[in-house]
This record gives sequence, C-alpha cells and structure tokens, in this order.
Amino acid sequence: MKIILLGPPGAGKGTHAKVLSETWKVPHLATGDILRGHIKSGTDLGKKAKDVIEKGGLVSDDLVNAMMFEEISRLPKKEFILDGFPRTIGQAEALDVFLKKNHLRLDAVLDFETDENILIDRLSGRRGCPKCGANYHIRNIPPKKPGVCDKCGAALTQRKDDNPETIRNRFATYQKETSPLIQYYTNANLLVSVDANLDVPSLQKRFRTIFEELKLAV
Ligand code: AMP
Repeated sequence: MKIILLGPPGAGKGTHAKVLSETWKVPHLATGDILRGHIKSGTDLGKKAKDVIEKGGLVSDDLVNAMMFEEISRLPKKEFILDGFPRTIGQAEALDVFLKKNHLRLDAVLDFETDENILIDRLSGRRGCPKCGANYHIRNIPPKKPGVCDKCGAALTQRKDDNPETIRNRFATYQKETSPLIQYYTNANLLVSVDANLDVPSLQKRFRTIFEELKLAV
C-alpha cells in the first residue's frame, strides 16, 4: 500500500494514519512529526524549520523532499502512508520523479473533506502525549484524568502551532499551496475524497471499502 493522506490542518489525517498503520501494518510517515523530531534533537534541519513551523508557513521544498525521500528509502518494503507530504505542487512533482526512479507507484490519494469550523475546534482543543505520542482532544477524546495521558501517565502538551494566529496562517498556507494538489491528483486519477466529518470508526470503514475496491485489502 502506497497512499497519501491529503487535507487541511485538523482534518484528522494524523489520527487516521495511526489507525490505518496499525490495521494494515503499513508504516506511517508524518512530515510534521519528523520535522518536530529534528527540532527536538537540534539538527541543522530542525534549526532551519523551527521558525517557519511556529509561524504556520512551509519548510522549503528542497529540505522536505530530501528528508522524506531519505525516510522512504529506509523502508524495507517501500510501502507507506504519507501524512502531510506532499504539501505543494513542487513536492508532488518531485515525489513523482522519485517514485518513478525507484519503480514505485502510488495507489491512492485520500482527500479529507471537512468544514472550517470543525477544523478550528479540533486544532484548538487538541492535546498530545510527548512521551508515547497518543492524541487527545479536550472534549472529543478527553483523557480520563485531565491533562494526563491514559496510556503512560505523562503530562499532555499542546502543540506550539495550535494557537489561533498560527492556525489562521496554516489555513491560508493550505489554501494557497496545498489545495491545488486536489486538482493535481484528480488529473493523475488517484484522488478519492472522503468525508472527514465522520467519526473515526465510520471513516475507517470507508477506507476499508476503498482499499477493497482498489484491491489493496487482503
Ligand atoms: P503538521 O504536523 O502536518 O500539521 O505539520 C506541522 C508544520 O510542519 C506545518 O505547519 C509546516 O510548517 C511543517 N510541514 C509539515 N509538512 C510539511 C511539508 N510537506 N512541507 C513543508 N512544511 C511542512
């Protein structure tokens, strides 16, 4: 399975990617998580990416492409769920070239369709566990004890870029840079739109149907 999850910030790509990855045993490559890992460990890339991420802009295509191609190259089976990549036409074109060179083909691009009010609520209420990576939402997926991870007991944190001003910038960036990918992948006959307002089990069921239709489910 080689798929891309496309959609605006807060559409649920990360949450669904984690479930898909466990269900279908396919590695999940989340560009944002990988970049935040670089920031945390203080790499050169992390230093270059930090400011841009905190302002809600995009890290340059060259840096992100090189990082993601290295990640894909490391995968033993060359199967993946890409979450947050590509995010520009330049990245999508570079990915096409990379895949072709490696004799790989995408199976589908799942486009998460949702409305903006839901997105703002999802992002501003989002909390995460810095230790085990579990995701929560203060109302929709609350931890049993407020502010504490159910799985490992660590204190939950809020992403720095989940504040109102940065959220607005991230939406604007999505509209300008990323939404043209919908047409790009429609033209490539790869786009499958899904209703991201559905609850997690219902949307996962829809994914299963899509995978069956594409003969990806075994
Ligand atoms: P995410 O966790 O996917 O919401 O990504 C967080 C931030 O990381 C984004 O707002 C961007 O600043 C940066 N980022 C993630 N993916 C990309 C990408 N494909 N290209 C450029 N910047 C990215």
